Amino acid sequence: GLGAYDDSNVFAKILRGAIPCRKVFENEWVLAFHDINPQAPVHVLVIPKGKYVSLADFTAAASEAEIAGFFRAVGALANELGLEAAGYRVLANMGPDAGQEVPHFHVHLFAGHNLGPMLT
Ligand code: 5GP
Repeated sequence: GLGAYDDSNVFAKILRGAIPCRKVFENEWVLAFHDINPQAPVHVLVIPKGKYVSLADFTAAASEAEIAGFFRAVGALANELGLEAAGYRVLANMGPDAGQEVPHFHVHLFAGHNLGPMLT
């Protein structure tokens, strides 16, 4: 795996309120907020409240309620932001080869213009 969870990562700090974020949505399972360095007109990050480094950690260790809560929130958020008609992209980076910067599992939600093809 990608190693043990490190509570000093920036999303852990956002979750405990130690640093601010521009919140888009929150419930018992997830926090969603605007990316600080947006790569599209809409660039929102959705993170589980639990401590998971990777998708593998999340799907292995989280409860079914937590996993359902997370993915339901991503879909509901896209719908509530009005993105279903024009479309959007959901992406998650895991580990060095994907350039994962923050070792707290998260998905990116990109939208707001034609996103073009996936690079790889
Ligand atoms: P990764 O490469 O880990 O998938 O993406 C991490 C994302 O987190 C990047 O798009 C980066 O801009 C964003 N990010 C890093 N630090 C902060 C922060 O302090 N606040 C917010 N809102 N986003 C951050």
